[in-house]
Amino acid sequence: MGLEEKLPAGFALTTLENVVGYMRKASMWPATFGLACCAIEMMAVGTPDYDISRFGMERFAATPRQADLMIVAGRVSQKMAPVVRQVYDQMPNPKWVISMGVCASSGGMFNNYAIVQGVDHIIPVDIYLPGCPPRPEMLLNAIIELHGQIQSSKLGVNRIAAARAAEEAALAATPTSLMAPTHDHLAHVAAPTGKNLLA
Ligand code: SF4
Repeated sequence: MGLEEKLPAGFALTTLENVVGYMRKASMWPATFGLACCAIEMMAVGTPDYDISRFGMERFAATPRQADLMIVAGRVSQKMAPVVRQVYDQMPNPKWVISMGVCASSGGMFNNYAIVQGVDHIIPVDIYLPGCPPRPEMLLNAIIELHGQIQSSKLGVNRIAAARAAEEAALAATPTSLMAPTHDHLAHVAAPTGKNLLA
């Protein structure tokens, strides 16, 4: 029984953006790209317990040319960075990226010269997934969030207008350098001796 049977005239109206968004989100294939321990959790979403095939996404492509979602699962070493970029460049447009775990998102506890301090230094990221490691449920939630973004993404002139509005909002935002804490909130805090902590 389809929706058309419930409609009086037998047809439904929608927008081209809605149809394209629905088809894009419902036909997403991830690239095989496990880099470290987070990849074990990524693999777990393919098991019956978590069942990524409910989204039709169980086919992790071994070639980037048949994938449109890169899940960067684990720390990215400086040596691996050009490979990540090359794989991303070989994926067809439109394509999306989930940065899985603190190591991929910010370098995590590996604050050293060997690890890229955030994969967004080399490729654009759509979803940052926190945790060390994130649970498979968290990855599924990130995928659902990404589906929502894709479903509501704009096309054509609407896309240009949305990009312009986002750029204007970014330019109007307060620079992070002006967001530094002033410690004013500590001015009235007194030590046990009664002495002001900042005096
Ligand atoms: S976030 Fe934790 S689990 Fe993931 S790669 Fe880094 S150390 Fe490993």
